Amino acid sequence: MLGKLRYGDDEIAYRIVENERLATRVRIHVGPDGEVEVEKPLGLPSSKVAEAVQKRARWIVRHVEAAKSAKKFALPRTYVSGESHFYLGRRFKLIVVAGERGTSRVRLWRGRIEVVLPVTDPVAVRRRLTAWYREKAIAHFSRKLAELVDRFEEVGTVPEFQLLTMEKQWGSCSPAGRLSLNPALIKAPAHCIEYVLLHELCHLVEHNHSKSFYALLGRYCPSWKAWKQELDGYAEQLLVA
Ligand SMILES: [Zn+2]
Repeated sequence: MLGKLRYGDDEIAYRIVENERLATRVRIHVGPDGEVEVEKPLGLPSSKVAEAVQKRARWIVRHVEAAKSAKKFALPRTYVSGESHFYLGRRFKLIVVAGERGTSRVRLWRGRIEVVLPVTDPVAVRRRLTAWYREKAIAHFSRKLAELVDRFEEVGTVPEFQLLTMEKQWGSCSPAGRLSLNPALIKAPAHCIEYVLLHELCHLVEHNHSKSFYALLGRYCPSWKAWKQELDGYAEQLLVA
């Protein structure tokens, strides 16, 4: 069963389902794609449902819009001027500039990430930018790992790492102690990067997620829960290339 909500110029369709556990009130859900579902008690007439939905119109419209803009944010990048790209947790506006033959440059400048290339088609821009992110990731991760190992008593030498693009993971540690780090991590804030590096360093000592692993992590990274949560919040937008 479908219903329709009008709010200003907006018209939002919603699906009505019956829920026998509800006594008198309806329950409204907005899904990740902005779809609206209304659960109603058995036998509640549609007019009563419409009334209840109308009462919460503002709330519904706000949540539908939020879901849609989150979705838009997570769309694959198109690598054209004006698009947002991230570096160390900051948002930069991409500016693509046609340069002379032989030029190939990326620079951060006044809140912009400027890419200068002789050929400015999105494929070339994507390739150049991906290479730039990888360079930055290698430099940042190497420096940071050295710094962290310096105060990490259980690990004596800076471990080797490789960059590995993963869809759902920021980092991993092989049983042999080799780290893999997602180059997309360089787009996250510095403290979130630090959390991932410390997490992987702890795996050099504790190879699982045991109690002692978390005790070690807590010792070197007391804020890890908050930092992890923050990073999880970025996952959708940063892991999309
Ligand atoms: Zn782990």
